[in-house]
Amino acid sequence: MLPPFRTEPFTDFSKPENEAAFRAALEKVKAEMGRSFPLVIGDRRLLLDQTFTSINPSRPSEVLGIFSKGDVSHADMAVATALEAFKTWQYTSVADRARYLLRAATELRRRKHEFSATMVLEVGKSWVEADADTAEAIDFMEYYARQAMRVADSSHLLVPNPGEQVGLYYIPLGVGIVIPPWNFPLAIPTGMLTAALVAGNAVILKPAQPSPWVAWKLCELFWNQGLPPGVLNFVSGPGSSTGAQMVAHPKTRFIAFTGSRDVGLNIFEQASKVPPGQIWLKRTILEMGGKDAVVVDETADLEAAAQGIVAGAFGFQGQKCSAGSRAIIVGDVYDQVANRVVDLTRKLQIGAPDIGPHIDMGPVVNLDSMQKIMGYIEVGTQEGELLLGGSPVETAEGGYFLPPTIFGDVTSNARIAQEEIFGPVLALMRARDYDDALDIANGTEYGLTGAVYSHDRARLEQARREFHVGNLYLNRKCTGALVGIHPFGGFNMSGTDSKTGGPDYLLLYTQAKSVAERL
Ligand code: NAD
Repeated sequence: MLPPFRTEPFTDFSKPENEAAFRAALEKVKAEMGRSFPLVIGDRRLLLDQTFTSINPSRPSEVLGIFSKGDVSHADMAVATALEAFKTWQYTSVADRARYLLRAATELRRRKHEFSATMVLEVGKSWVEADADTAEAIDFMEYYARQAMRVADSSHLLVPNPGEQVGLYYIPLGVGIVIPPWNFPLAIPTGMLTAALVAGNAVILKPAQPSPWVAWKLCELFWNQGLPPGVLNFVSGPGSSTGAQMVAHPKTRFIAFTGSRDVGLNIFEQASKVPPGQIWLKRTILEMGGKDAVVVDETADLEAAAQGIVAGAFGFQGQKCSAGSRAIIVGDVYDQVANRVVDLTRKLQIGAPDIGPHIDMGPVVNLDSMQKIMGYIEVGTQEGELLLGGSPVETAEGGYFLPPTIFGDVTSNARIAQEEIFGPVLALMRARDYDDALDIANGTEYGLTGAVYSHDRARLEQARREFHVGNLYLNRKCTGALVGIHPFGGFNMSGTDSKTGGPDYLLLYTQAKSVAERL
């Protein structure tokens, strides 16, 4: 019997002992920089000649790790190996599988700062953001372990039939490919991986190119718990070839993907094809991008709204699917809110986040990303009034630093109001009234998160009905979903609304078997 699930508390870095512990973790992780990492397929460790590096975006010349570049032959090898391991793993008891997750959670809690420090270096998270990422990973392990035991045998939900013994069992699917993004490089792979494993599937993790180090550490954590070889395989390499091969493979049973709209659509299409030798329809769990909006009306607590807008837009440099990249403010209070948002944003501290907990914003993840965001800033100068930011922040070490950038009076059909930028760029938009604001908010192809600041009860109820997003927040910021509390996933082009961290999520990694025996 397990104690009830509780979310992992966040670390208070204002306490000197916590700051000291985090600094020690950073030193430990820095001392490990520059190692080479193999692919792990079953019990084989393949250190390849073809490699790619993981770098620190604050100081791009700093190489964190050298990773083997798996190709399509490794993709095939990994699927075959996972299929073999699945033959026995599928019959391990759910309690045994859950125990792996619980042990991993205990170990991760013990080494929490080490994992967070890795993210500070590898993707430029602030201490607070990295700590929240690790806490979420622990939560997924603890939550899915409990959910697995709840759902595996659901026979008690059936209607009894005299003369028959009836059962309903959620059994695993087979070999799954887990394809995460780099922006929650610990929590998101952990969520998809642990759900797949605890449901009895064998898994291949293909980490995102910018964040293989923390993904490796996650897999190692599980291998150290004694997971049988082949149940969890690590294949680093390019998504467009190695990842695509695993998606297309006839023995792949499901794909759990989190990432951009375009790659998600590509996987959706490729997975729908049935190559020779494939005897099932692949399942796809696809969580994609967002163009999330914060609506503010004239009855709102304007200070709370401005704070929520700034936190939602610029936390982790705006590189969250849930980032509030549009603030839609009714005309009467537009100027007041816009001025306050600009004032608060000016106070954000930018720098290499390993310096200390006072850094609010680190670099964006890599040069490609920086150039893409700069392209949107260029577009923005044609589409709105530049109120803050706009040019890269130069550093001696050439880090990928962009300032928080705010455009005012952006119209609803502007590109910077429609397309996901995935960087620290906020569009402020003026609405005629509340109805107009909701129309603008709903006026993109996405539907992930949204927030409304208002003290008008009827309008809050209207938002509950009409604001078409998977995660709606009333009088609070639009980021920061908690496992078990805010099941997460979006509508329309934001994905398949799988609701990670929710009571139904695990079922996506299973198939239901109904058994009736005449007595
Ligand atoms: P991305 O789509 O570029 O890459 C995601 C993953 O897909 C990577 O591991 C990549 O290697 C792999 N990949 C690329 N092409 C592939 C192919 N053809 N076949 C198989 N795999 C392939 O996304 P990203 O830049 O890593 O992450 C940012 C995106 O993720 C943003 O759009 C963000 O909104 C989204 N995201 C969504 C959620 C959510 O829950 N909805 C959460 C986090 C991030």
